[in-house]
Amino acid sequence: MLLNLRVAACLGGVLLSACGASATIARPGSNSLGPVGSSSGRNIDEAAGLTRDPNIAAALADVDAAHIRHTDSMLVSFGTRNTFSDTVSQTRGIGAARRWIHSEFERYSRDCGGCLRVEYNAKVQEIRRAQGRDTIVRSANIVDVLAWLPGRDTSHVIVMSGHYDSCVCSAGGSFDSTSTAPGADDDGSGSSAVVELARVFSKRFPKGLSSSIIFVTVASEEQGLNGARQLAEWLHQNGYKVVAGMTDDIVGNVTAEDGYTDSTSMRIFAADPDNSSSRELGRYVWGLDKIYMPNFDVLPVWRLDRIGRGGDHEPYVTLGDPGLRFTERVENYNRQHLPTDDFAHVNFGYVANVARVNAMTVASLASAPPTPANARATRQGRAGIDPTGATATPTSSGGQAWTLSWDASPGATSYELLIRRTTSPTWERVIPVGNVTRCTLKRQLDDEWAGIRAVGPSGARSMAASMPAPNAPRPAPTPGGRGGAGGRGGAAGTGAGTGAAGRGAQPAGPPPALCGA
Ligand SMILES: [Zn+2]
Repeated sequence: MLLNLRVAACLGGVLLSACGASATIARPGSNSLGPVGSSSGRNIDEAAGLTRDPNIAAALADVDAAHIRHTDSMLVSFGTRNTFSDTVSQTRGIGAARRWIHSEFERYSRDCGGCLRVEYNAKVQEIRRAQGRDTIVRSANIVDVLAWLPGRDTSHVIVMSGHYDSCVCSAGGSFDSTSTAPGADDDGSGSSAVVELARVFSKRFPKGLSSSIIFVTVASEEQGLNGARQLAEWLHQNGYKVVAGMTDDIVGNVTAEDGYTDSTSMRIFAADPDNSSSRELGRYVWGLDKIYMPNFDVLPVWRLDRIGRGGDHEPYVTLGDPGLRFTERVENYNRQHLPTDDFAHVNFGYVANVARVNAMTVASLASAPPTPANARATRQGRAGIDPTGATATPTSSGGQAWTLSWDASPGATSYELLIRRTTSPTWERVIPVGNVTRCTLKRQLDDEWAGIRAVGPSGARSMAASMPAPNAPRPAPTPGGRGGAGGRGGAAGTGAGTGAAGRGAQPAGPPPALCGA
């Protein structure tokens, strides 16, 4: 009976000290987010222990809707920015548009003493389009326009993009290079936001932050994400580690076809699976929004993109990087890929708020140490009877004790462990663990996700690395072999880069100290 009372107290989350070993781990504290396992889920605080940096808050205040409006008006003034449009004219076509964006970036750089590195990233690509039974192939020089803000670490880069090409794909088709295609919202809005971010960051952070940032307007999104893919592949081929590959695409419309209006919230799209690095990026943005912009809601959508549609974060997700799409809350298909996507229907106060969400995300990521690499959770001990016939070893665990380990993150002064139920959309508990890279977690991790994040000297926190790796279905047995026996929860396709699920791989030596002890 006494035992039952203790269990009841644990489940109720009232007397955590009565919960045995887990109390050592899950002690309430300033970062505690309430008991994991409570049925209500109401104790969830999406901020999950992230903190406000006054320098970042000041940068958000610098974002200027009027300046974004001016940039978009200039982009629209080039008539069309179709990928195959005029590249020679100074007044019409995609060539004039990209030269103007380049000149804007150069102007900001002059004003900050040359703090930006402004460049084109160009490559001739063959672009295909089905037309009836035929395939039309055309070549185009795909030119992305980049403004780098180098950080102290030049190998880690954060990519913040919009696509400056436009089309009237729903009228004349994606190869229509001459019809007027204003693209004021798609994606003049996102491109203008990114140009504004380059201006604000060059002014506010002229010496750069910890990681490097690339503000980029990319080309040929409308023919298949070609400019974004080109840049993502170039970064990988040249040895950069992409912290986040993000896109602002269609971020300025607030009224749907039926008149429904929402100018106070936006959406972010983050790809499967549930513990992917893209999803971690989404949780990070969701949490930051609660701290920096509590009156402008971020609505997380846990899928790659809107149904049947795509965006420039995809190439990063494909390459295993965290990717994220920022987009308006309500779309209007009567004003996309049509001549009606005009300047009069973009709400620039709204675009400025989207740019502020971008700014807090980019600045927070760039201020933090890198996400710990090689995060692993390994079940301690070995269940059942071992080959000597003895019963389980003293540290054996049916899942209640795990060795967590990760690589030290350059610049980190400590780490925080995060816990959530598998059904929770975001983290529910924060456990400071100090400056260690291994510890013992006494929780039933078969039923939860753990994450580890790095904390820098200023309190800036990285995105979390999720663990353990999810189970992968075992392959069918092969004749004469033991195929399938090796199913160890591979990380295939997760993009999470997290380690073994702990079916085997028992680490040598005694278990490390308790996490947070
Ligand atoms: Zn678009």
